Amino acid sequence: MTDAAFRSNSDNFCYRHPDRQSFVLCQRCTRTICPECMTQMPVGVICPECLAAQRQAAGEAQRQNIARMPRRRSRLATDTRPLATYTLVGITVLLYLVTLIPSIGGVVEYFLAFNSALAVVQPWRMLTVVFVHASIFHVGLNMLALWAIGRSLEPLLGRSRFLALYALSALGGSALVALLAPGSWVVGASGAVWGLLGAMLVIGRHIGANVTAIAVLLGLNLVFTFLPGSNISWQAHIGGGLVGALVGLIFARTRKIRQRRTQIWLLIATGVALVAITVAASLVFFG
Ligand SMILES: [Zn+2]
Ligand SMILES: [Zn+2]
Repeated sequence: MTDAAFRSNSDNFCYRHPDRQSFVLCQRCTRTICPECMTQMPVGVICPECLAAQRQAAGEAQRQNIARMPRRRSRLATDTRPLATYTLVGITVLLYLVTLIPSIGGVVEYFLAFNSALAVVQPWRMLTVVFVHASIFHVGLNMLALWAIGRSLEPLLGRSRFLALYALSALGGSALVALLAPGSWVVGASGAVWGLLGAMLVIGRHIGANVTAIAVLLGLNLVFTFLPGSNISWQAHIGGGLVGALVGLIFARTRKIRQRRTQIWLLIATGVALVAITVAASLVFFG
């Protein structure tokens, strides 16, 4: 999808705020709505017009129910801040601080870092690799990039799609490491962060993110990758970036409500394929 084609398609923007891009649809009228226009219902979100229509259509008893709904709905579900981004940054920084503690730190790092030789017996490493970092610069650059991209991308995609993108990109990084650098120890969120970038490039460059800042952060990240002695791998960057672009394409092509199941199955298939590649590579190289 070209940039121009993307921008000319009004489906990609909030129908009440035509300058705001979004991937979240109203459950009732299936028009695109931005975080500000969403009201969380028992199943999915609806737009202000549909909320008003629903209130009007409802009988007196039901009207009271809907009026009470805002108090009953979960605060997490209606909070439109990029909480997944904040949580990922928080957990990553916390675990980095833990790895600095003598004796405990080494153990944590040892059980979370990725090595394809251990992929079959300790498969969680394909994902937990994102929480281990080699140095303060490594964790700092990755978390600044996650922060810079996530604050724009998470509200645009919705929280669950954003988390799926991050996780699948991490798997993509691990899968390519398993194929191209079997048996090497790898740490860092770089693969997942490059996946966010890949998705962002596919979805559209004009999502309100500071592209220059992101480019600088990712450039520094690459420099650190090639410093001697770093356990950071370029294979993870490329694997994560490619899978992120693929996931971005899946999101962009399955936006309609009736395509929701297709989207979920495509994401599951991507995850299964990446785990299968990693396990197969591990079996081939380490039997
Ligand atoms: Zn609606
Ligand atoms: Zn809006």
